Amino acid sequence: MANSKRDYYEILGVSREATAQEVKKAYRRLARDHHPDANPDDASAEERFKELTEAYEVLSNAEARRAYDTYGHQVPRGGGGQPGGDPFGGVQDIFEAFFGDGFSGSSMFGEGFGGASRGPARGRNAEADIELELAEAAFGVEREVNVQVVKNCSVCSGSGGKETHLCGMCGGAGAVRTVRDTLLGQMVSQSACPDCRGAGRIVDVPCDECRGSGKVSSIASRRVAVPAGIEDGMRLRVSGAGHDGESGSPPGDLYINIKVKEHPELMRDGEDLIHRMKVNFVQAALGTEFRVPTLEGDSPVTVEPGTQPGAAIRLRGEGMPRIRGRGRGDIKVVVDVMMPTRLTPEQRELLEKFEQMSGAETYNGGGASFFERLRGVFR
Ligand SMILES: [Zn+2]
Ligand SMILES: [Zn+2]
Repeated sequence: MANSKRDYYEILGVSREATAQEVKKAYRRLARDHHPDANPDDASAEERFKELTEAYEVLSNAEARRAYDTYGHQVPRGGGGQPGGDPFGGVQDIFEAFFGDGFSGSSMFGEGFGGASRGPARGRNAEADIELELAEAAFGVEREVNVQVVKNCSVCSGSGGKETHLCGMCGGAGAVRTVRDTLLGQMVSQSACPDCRGAGRIVDVPCDECRGSGKVSSIASRRVAVPAGIEDGMRLRVSGAGHDGESGSPPGDLYINIKVKEHPELMRDGEDLIHRMKVNFVQAALGTEFRVPTLEGDSPVTVEPGTQPGAAIRLRGEGMPRIRGRGRGDIKVVVDVMMPTRLTPEQRELLEKFEQMSGAETYNGGGASFFERLRGVFR
């Protein structure tokens, strides 16, 4: 799951507002410490070094960083518009390989506890859905989303108690360590304190507001800027807009699932849009002017005389905006030629006369097969 990956900012130990200079400085310092050459006996140093480099590669590239801030680790693949030059290719896959399950954000001590090196557990991530019209997905839109989030009670600051005292068992740490002798030597394990259940404090008088739970559920309203060119199934991340963490730890993120409604006449194909245009066989033979729907109203197209079934007409730059590039894709108008299904005797006679007057030369140039033309559309 993309939302359980370790944060690039966290890896480099810099804030989200860090300047390019600060990112570089942090990377240099950490890379020196974790360089495999400097840690020949530490097998995990290489992994850590790769992870650092990965984080640095993204955060040091302004465009990549912007995409990461918007999408988190689930960076969109886009419509294949930038072969080769894609700075994000496979970032997520690399991430899976580096971290595996052991590095997911949840800690081994249950909620409220982090591993010693990772600090206190962050709040859980929240999710919301946004449904968009195709044009909204194309040009971007601002939307208000209401998210149900668990917040720390403001009356008791999440402690759950009107009156509390420090837990004597753990001294307020919330965790206890136990040392056991085993065949393999001493094993040290850490677990949530049984007396305070990890809170670090014991409640004497429960808080009225949250009935002692320390948490309240609330509906948070957020304005979300949906970037132009977004696709169905993508997710947006709003950093820090998720559920509150245990007191002192940062909140989780909000992930917004994007659903794009189907347009009745324009089918999405990456950054291009496909429109099937029906013309009758006479119009296809003689040529005609047509209007086709676009994202910004109708647009005229010319059907040339002798247009074949499956022929494609491109309306350049009228498709979807490229989410990480400049410009827009095309609208590909695919010509669907209708044949008459019912002929009057006079019509039949006319067509028979036409056939008698026609030879192979009448159909010259219509050589490419229907499927070859259709393949050209989807290429
Ligand atoms: Zn309370
Ligand atoms: Zn305790």
